[in-house]
Amino acid sequence: MIGAGPYGLSAGAHLKAKGIGVRVFGEPMEFWAKKMPEGMLLRSPRVASNLSDPDGAFTLEAYEAASKKEPLAPLPLETFVEYGKWFRHQLASDIDPREVQRVDRHAEGFRLTLRDGDEVLAKKVVIATGIGAFKKGPAVFEGLPSEQVSHCYDGRDVRRFAGKRVVVVGAGQSALESAALLHEAGAQVEVIARRANLRWIGQHSWLHHLGPISTLLYSSHDVGPVGISRLVAYPRIMRFIPLQLRDRIRIRAVRPAGSRWLPARLKYVQMSMGRAVASAAMVRDEVVLKLDDGTERRVDHVLLGTGYKVEIAKYGFLPNELVQAIEQFDGYPKLGRGFTCSLPGLHFVGATAARTFGPLLNFVAGTEFASRELLSYLTKYAA
Ligand SMILES: Cc1cc2nc3c(=O)[nH]c(=O)nc-3n(C[C@H](O)[C@H](O)[C@H](O)COP(=O)(O)OP(=O)(O)OC[C@H]3O[C@@H](n4cnc5c(N)ncnc54)[C@H](O)[C@@H]3O)c2cc1C
Repeated sequence: MIGAGPYGLSAGAHLKAKGIGVRVFGEPMEFWAKKMPEGMLLRSPRVASNLSDPDGAFTLEAYEAASKKEPLAPLPLETFVEYGKWFRHQLASDIDPREVQRVDRHAEGFRLTLRDGDEVLAKKVVIATGIGAFKKGPAVFEGLPSEQVSHCYDGRDVRRFAGKRVVVVGAGQSALESAALLHEAGAQVEVIARRANLRWIGQHSWLHHLGPISTLLYSSHDVGPVGISRLVAYPRIMRFIPLQLRDRIRIRAVRPAGSRWLPARLKYVQMSMGRAVASAAMVRDEVVLKLDDGTERRVDHVLLGTGYKVEIAKYGFLPNELVQAIEQFDGYPKLGRGFTCSLPGLHFVGATAARTFGPLLNFVAGTEFASRELLSYLTKYAA
C-alpha cells in the first residue's frame, strides 16, 4: 500500500485483519498534517469523516471518547489528523513511514524502491497516494517565482501572510476557506474568480430536516445534491452508468462551492467575481496582475485555489513504462472490480478511482467501500 492517508490506513487495516500480509508506506496523514491550512475545518459532516476498520471500532467518536476530546462540528483539521494518527496504531509495525520513490515490474510482481534506496518486493501494489501531485493552476502564473505564487495545497502556515496583500484565485472550498483564514491572520485579501456568483453548500438546508424524507433524498455521506447524493452512495452501481452521464454526476457532485459556515467569515473580504487574471508579472518585489476587465492589482502573493486534475503520469514514482501500460481515460486509470487497472496486480484507490466508481471516492466517506471492495477482490480472486 503506497500512501498512509485515510484510504491507505483504512484499506491496510481491513487487509491486515484478514491476515493478508500488508505493508503501508508513507508518513501517516501527511497530506492533511502538512499541506492543509492551519485552522481549517472539515467540509464533510462528522458521520462522513470516519476512517474504516473491519469492526467499526476505530471511529471518530471512539477516538474523541478515548482522548477526552469534545466532539465538535464542523470538525477541526487538528482533531482529524490526530484521529488518523490514533487509527494507524492498528497497523502497528506494518506501517513504514518511508516514501516510495519508484515502482517497477518484477518477476514476483513489483519492486518498490524507497527513498533511502532500500528495495521491497510485493505481489500486489495499491496506490493510495491522493491528489497532492495533481494540483493545477492557470498558465498565466507559470513564470512567477514560487515565493510569490503558491497553491492552496502547498503549505499550512497562513500567519506568514499577516500584513501582506494576497489575491486568492478560485471559488471552491479551498480558495474560500484559505481567504477566510488569511483575513483572520491579518492579511489584506481579495478573491478573484471567473464565476459570476459564489455557491454555498447546503443552500436548501431545510431538505436535511424532514426526517425519513431527508433520508430518501440524501445519503449520510452528503456528497452531491438532492437525489444524486443517494446514487453516489452506491459506487458499485455508479461503475455501470455510461461514462458521459457518470462524468456529469461526478462534476455536479464536486463542483466548486463553499461551506455554510464561510459567508460570515468572508464578510469583509473583497470578492471580485466574474473576472479572470489576464497576465501576471513581477515588477521589483510586487506581483502585478492585469484582469480581463482592464483593472490592475499589485500584491505580495497569489494563492491558487484552482483545484486539481487527476493525471496518474504525474505520480513521480510511476515510471513512464508503467504509466504507458495502464489503460486510462484522460489521466484516470480505467478500473475494474477490486480497483484493478489493466496492469495485473496494480490497484488504485481514492480520487484516482472517482472516474470509475463516482465522486464518493473523492472523500473520506469512500474509505469503507474502497476497503471492503479491495479486500473482497483480494481474498476471492488473487490468492
Ligand atoms: C483543502 C482540502 C479540504 C478537504 N476537505 C475534505 C473534507 O472535509 N472531507 C473529505 O472527505 N475530504 C476532503 N478533502 C479531500 C481529501 O483530499 C480526501 O478526502 C482524502 O485526503 C483522501 O484520502 P487519500 O488517502 O486518498 O489521500 P491523502 O489524504 O492525500 O493521502 C495520501 C498520502 O499518500 C502520501 N504519499 C504520496 N506519495 C507517496 C509516496 N510516493 N510514498 C509514500 N507516501 C506517499 C501522501 O503524503 C499522503 O499523505 C479535502 C481536500 C482538500 C485539498
